[in-house]
Amino acid sequence: MTTLGLDGIDSLPARIERLGELALDLWWSWNPHARNVFRRLDYTLWRSTDHNPVRMLRLLPPAALEKASRDPIFLDLYDHALAGLDPTRTATGTWWSERMPAMPGRSIAYFSAEFAIHQSLPIYAGGLGVLAGDICKEGSDLGLPLLGVGFMYPQGYFHQHVSADGWQQEGYEQLNWADAPVTPAVTPGGRPCVVTVPLGSRTVKVSVWRVRLGRTKLYLLDTGLEENAPWDRELSARLYGGDTETRIQQEIILGVGGVRALRALGSDPVVWHLNEGHAAFVVLQRMRELTEQGQSFETALAEVRRTTVFTTHTPVPAGHDTFPFRLVEAHLAGCWGTLRGHREAFLALGNYDNGSGPHFNMTALALRTAGQVNAVSQLHAGVTRQMWAPIWPGLKDDRHPVRALTNGIHIGTWVASRLAQLFDQYLGANWRDQRDDGVWDRVREIPDTELWGVRQELRRYLFDFIRERARQRWTNERVGGGQVLAAGTLLDPNALTIGFARRFTEYKRPELIFTDPERLARLLTAAKRPVQLVFAGKAHPADDPGKHHLQHVYQRALDGAFGGRVAFVDDYDLHVAHFLVQGCDVWLNNPRKPLEASGTSGMKAALNGVPHLSIGDGWWAEGYAGDNGWLIDGGEHPDRASTDAADADALYTLLERKVVPAFYDRDDADLPRRWLAIVRQAIRAVAPRFTTRRMVTEYVEQMYAPAIRGSGYEYPQETGET
Ligand SMILES: *Cc1c(COP(=O)(O)O)cnc(C)c1O
Repeated sequence: MTTLGLDGIDSLPARIERLGELALDLWWSWNPHARNVFRRLDYTLWRSTDHNPVRMLRLLPPAALEKASRDPIFLDLYDHALAGLDPTRTATGTWWSERMPAMPGRSIAYFSAEFAIHQSLPIYAGGLGVLAGDICKEGSDLGLPLLGVGFMYPQGYFHQHVSADGWQQEGYEQLNWADAPVTPAVTPGGRPCVVTVPLGSRTVKVSVWRVRLGRTKLYLLDTGLEENAPWDRELSARLYGGDTETRIQQEIILGVGGVRALRALGSDPVVWHLNEGHAAFVVLQRMRELTEQGQSFETALAEVRRTTVFTTHTPVPAGHDTFPFRLVEAHLAGCWGTLRGHREAFLALGNYDNGSGPHFNMTALALRTAGQVNAVSQLHAGVTRQMWAPIWPGLKDDRHPVRALTNGIHIGTWVASRLAQLFDQYLGANWRDQRDDGVWDRVREIPDTELWGVRQELRRYLFDFIRERARQRWTNERVGGGQVLAAGTLLDPNALTIGFARRFTEYKRPELIFTDPERLARLLTAAKRPVQLVFAGKAHPADDPGKHHLQHVYQRALDGAFGGRVAFVDDYDLHVAHFLVQGCDVWLNNPRKPLEASGTSGMKAALNGVPHLSIGDGWWAEGYAGDNGWLIDGGEHPDRASTDAADADALYTLLERKVVPAFYDRDDADLPRRWLAIVRQAIRAVAPRFTTRRMVTEYVEQMYAPAIRGSGYEYPQETGET
């Protein structure tokens, strides 16, 4: 096993001896005091490590730590941070501790194939992971006894480099364990947690890592043990790499291994939440446990239903894992135990024909075994009820038990610190804890000059970041002049900047804005009112059409007709996302309706005063209120080509008539008053509703509560309030 830990942790000066502990608890990443601890410690290192305190502590000379331990400003930040960490971990005075029953020894388990917590832990690909990460953070803020279960992929998801001709290159980097905020998970007996998972006729060993996020603990499974065969070690090496066969084995490890890991760690969850179908084999292991205790198949299934919650995330058929039955039978061969006699009945729970013959479908398994199911927006719930109609024979569409529970974002993670300072000043000290609309009404009280000052500053941060990245690629990788240009070096830090960053795939129509190149060029290169476009995003390694879209966009960045006003930023990840959603002026989204289940990047942007310009799909169908951004609506058309053309026309018209004039219309003080009104409404409309604060409390009240009550706990508590 890899050794790790904080080199130099022994040598921390006594006054700041808990600094290592703070660096290892990713709670620091969304607590402003804790973040400032590490910024203050060494700002150059903070930036050059992409905000990785574990790495910082490893690199800092002892003298620097010694000096910090005598710096009163640093000590003040340090004391504040630790004073926040301890009650967070014990969850005193939280929403949960005040409203929910004490459930000693019980927990809520949340399974996901990816978690996006911080760029120093590269175990995520995109939106699904960001949602899982944001839920873990909110769970901690609200005081939930939440345990995340996922994978520790030492090679993570790929890093993207775009070649001079615009083709995506994928590179995997081995994680430097010494720089990662993880430690081995230990059993109640004090031993490193290692469990076994039967795969086919062999047994694979799985070790478990722990990540701390305040109150929340995240357990990550890793098959990279010496004792495993080389091909088994590879199973958890990368996220979404490999073929169907790798995929099913990973999912068995996640489901079966995840339940076994929780048991080995002494956990007894009251609720088992499956984030997407990837984790649905949790059900298999739990049914096996229950039948081992002597329950019948039917009672075991009923118990699993009572305690399982499932969230489905995509209306795109290819987004749901299906496996041929022979593959399932081969790989599950060793997993049955007491369930063996009910093999047929269990396999039938996953049986689904989506037009290509019966397959074992992970979403079908989850839909049939979870007592509570949700889709991630109102629109998506409707689509899901229709899409999976055969699961509920005899029920009308509107009776299909799929709840609409719209996604949200974690405010502490996504709000720019400069903006948070304005909120501190004008919204009252407790704005982070508020769901009350009244708090956000006070956004109107932020003076125009200050709000605009921060917006300008955030745009400049983005361009500093873009230029610095381009410089690094130029110096370290010796990329050509074209690549330096395409990376955004000709962008103007004062021009209206439109961001488009998301996975490159056909249904998101990344090229829509280039439909009429001349019309677009007129917009971009207008002498007094220039507009610029910043793109970022990866295509899935197996998605060649997605890579072609990316290449076409890249070629536009190199096209002189657009005057250097189109850029592509490589290697989109959490770090890049922060700069983009905070630093652009407008956030563009133009998917083919209704394929965007929710989308969350637009919420992050709006929270930062970056209004959304989007098709009325996903969350925007609920979030658009007329004055907080713009709705692209080309109307309904019989075929794709005319829909695309109409949507593109609607997009240009909005840009020409609404967006550009509002941004450039300045008063005597050079302030864009009309623009700032939209900025305020963007914040005002998103902050109380499209956040994990609202979402996680709804999860608890609507989806977890039945399981909690069913386990004999009284909920809601009598609080004495009326
Ligand atoms: C928020 C986020 C996403 C998801 O955004 P969508 O709007 O759903 O595409 C994907 N990747 C990263 C890095 C993000 O931060």
